[in-house]
Amino acid sequence: MRKNAPRRLLAGIDLGVTQYRIGIVDASTGRIHGLTKLKTAGFTLPRFCDALVKVAAPYRKDLAGIGVAVPGFSDHRQRRVVTTCGTVPFLESCEVAEAVEARLDVPTWVDNDARAHAVGEFQYGGWGKPRSLVVMTLGTGVGLAWHVEGRLYPPPDHGAQGGHMSALPTGGNPCYCGISGCLESLASGTALAAAANECLARFYPSKLCAPTDAEQICRLGASDDLAQKCIGRAIEALRGALHTIHHLYFPDVLVLGGSASLGLWPHLSSLRKWFARAERFDGRHNRLVLSRLGDKAGVLGAAALVRANLMSAEK
Ligand SMILES: [Zn+2]
Repeated sequence: MRKNAPRRLLAGIDLGVTQYRIGIVDASTGRIHGLTKLKTAGFTLPRFCDALVKVAAPYRKDLAGIGVAVPGFSDHRQRRVVTTCGTVPFLESCEVAEAVEARLDVPTWVDNDARAHAVGEFQYGGWGKPRSLVVMTLGTGVGLAWHVEGRLYPPPDHGAQGGHMSALPTGGNPCYCGISGCLESLASGTALAAAANECLARFYPSKLCAPTDAEQICRLGASDDLAQKCIGRAIEALRGALHTIHHLYFPDVLVLGGSASLGLWPHLSSLRKWFARAERFDGRHNRLVLSRLGDKAGVLGAAALVRANLMSAEK
């Protein structure tokens, strides 16, 4: 590196329930220089740090910061994971930033994955830097975060628990949060798989292979009656949730992301038509879109969080 040249690279880590990805990201363009994927199962904090050091070491002199996106929430300083609700055991009450900084001496932040996705969409999603942008992630769970006039919500220590908004006031599946009918229990990838597997156990005719998962359900989509039925149920729940979000946040852009959002491609125009009714009522138009960041959303989001923190530190 040239002497005094600004550091231009960020490390973005998407630490998921089943696998994690480490990407070295160009801070200004979002170009990913190197992407490493590893299985999360059996990991410990020292092993995580070892893997990160191995990937980041060649870029060390150009690294301005490191971001770690997790399926849980951090303390308000974005230093420690408070909880992942048991989904990634080694992260419970884990001082991630301190451990990484001790190994690499690069400023590090840890935060919720939906918050990371929201700032990543704003920075690298190609939506033209809208005044207000909301991201709903449909993956293992459902996350919700929003970026309004340069600020990211909800705060890091609140998590992004919008997935527990009620989508069915009565009935619906029990949710691990203690109530029934949450959006997460109807529209997450986990819910899609659970609904399909329940039908398969009762010999519902289908091309899906038991036990199935959200990826297979989304891939088969309209070509399979059961897959279509499960996706249809998720969309019913989503409609109500999106209507609520529209009136609460008036987003200029509303992004659906996460692995289970892929099954929504064929239904996007009908969801948009449905939205048009709300827009006729209040005159506010929002763009309902699917994320373009694909499976890089977590890595780019974690990098974008770092970028935002570094910029606010310079002010
Ligand atoms: Zn819930």
